[in-house]
Amino acid sequence: MAKLTVRDLDVKGKRVFLRVDYNVPMEEKDGKMIINDSTRIVETVPTLKLLIEKGGRLILTAHLGRPKGKREASMSLAPVAVKLSELLGKPVKFVDDCIGEKVESAVAAMKDGEVTLLENVRYYNEEEANDPGFAEKLAKVADVYVNDAFGAAHRAHASTEGVARIVTRRGGKAAAGLLMERELKFLGDELENPARPFVVILGGAKVSDKIKVIDRLLEKADTILIGGAMAYTFKLAHGVKTGKSLIEPDHKGTALAAEAKAKTLKVNFQLPTDTIIATPVDTGKLNKKGKPVYDLTNIRTVSGDIPDDAEGFSIGPETAANYAGIISSAKTVLWNGPMGMFEDARFAAGTNAVAQAVVDATQKNGAKSIIGGGDSVKALNKAGLGDKVTFMSTGGGASLEFLEGAVLPGVAALSEK
Ligand code: ADP
Ligand code: MG
Repeated sequence: MAKLTVRDLDVKGKRVFLRVDYNVPMEEKDGKMIINDSTRIVETVPTLKLLIEKGGRLILTAHLGRPKGKREASMSLAPVAVKLSELLGKPVKFVDDCIGEKVESAVAAMKDGEVTLLENVRYYNEEEANDPGFAEKLAKVADVYVNDAFGAAHRAHASTEGVARIVTRRGGKAAAGLLMERELKFLGDELENPARPFVVILGGAKVSDKIKVIDRLLEKADTILIGGAMAYTFKLAHGVKTGKSLIEPDHKGTALAAEAKAKTLKVNFQLPTDTIIATPVDTGKLNKKGKPVYDLTNIRTVSGDIPDDAEGFSIGPETAANYAGIISSAKTVLWNGPMGMFEDARFAAGTNAVAQAVVDATQKNGAKSIIGGGDSVKALNKAGLGDKVTFMSTGGGASLEFLEGAVLPGVAALSEK
């Protein structure tokens, strides 16, 4: 999959329509919207600098939140323009619309190397509908199309797909930005022919969320390590009692089929041998969402059945040690899905042990370590290990779909090299 990238582009004097992911968390303070975490803006800077150096005229488009086709002041990208200007050390012009006369005249006044950010593209319902007329309006200011928003590439929206198609139909180029290029390299190319042993760690809440990924990776991996709540459906399928744990009884067959496939393909497929459980006790209180609040009492480790009144929250220490040993000799590691409810420190040890093993494999064994999935990335950052792996996807849902082997519309629309 060799997609054209910004490195290959000649953009001198051209209007570069650049789709970025500026969907940053914001909070209202004294009537003003403040950006809580600028990571996504910071991450686009290398792509922007490269295009600025090459003399392009950058027109940035992004979405923020879910304004559902209305002009929601709290979802304006105006604060992002201020932050971006700081990061680039140069002015960033903000236009309070993404189509129409205002945009066209602002762009007409641009010089080479200048940057303009357009207002939230989701102020129009036509964006998510991938309305062809709307895409044409966006594309009015596009000579070249660049997509650096991998996290939005699994959706065929006007700014992620429609504009790219229009630009290429006119004979222009549509290319991946540097962030997108890295996502395609690590989640795509690197996993096509991975250095072996290739160990895949899969966790998270549900088998049904991950079964397509399991199915595809069974064809590539040497070992698959299962953790998180997902493991309980496998256990249930083997007749082990799972108490109040998160399970999907309808997916027992799915779980058994995956194990059977692993056997046929001679993949070392491992389930946890111990589990950290707790007994939930109703406090009689309700949380903000109106759901009952439970105290998790009597936290302990079991290796077999989970008692009827108890719930599993993580892999146990024996499993963590076993998994860490296997991971340490890997040459490629792919990790998607935490090993337990890591958000609660009492159940984070298993996830943290696996995170440390992935880091050790990377640093001591020269393994390539690739982390996909929003919560997995959070878990690694929470453990303070985010910068010690080879690659962490920015994609969330998009990375999961990509790992399933799906063709992402935002990627498919880019020009081939
Ligand atoms: P990712 O976003 O990395 O793909 P998922 O969304 O599939 O991961 O799963 C992450 C969520 O699964 C976390 O919020 C975590 O608390 C939850 N989880 C993992 N194990 C358990 C468990 N044993 N019981 C309850 N929740 C769990
Ligand atoms: Mg998640």
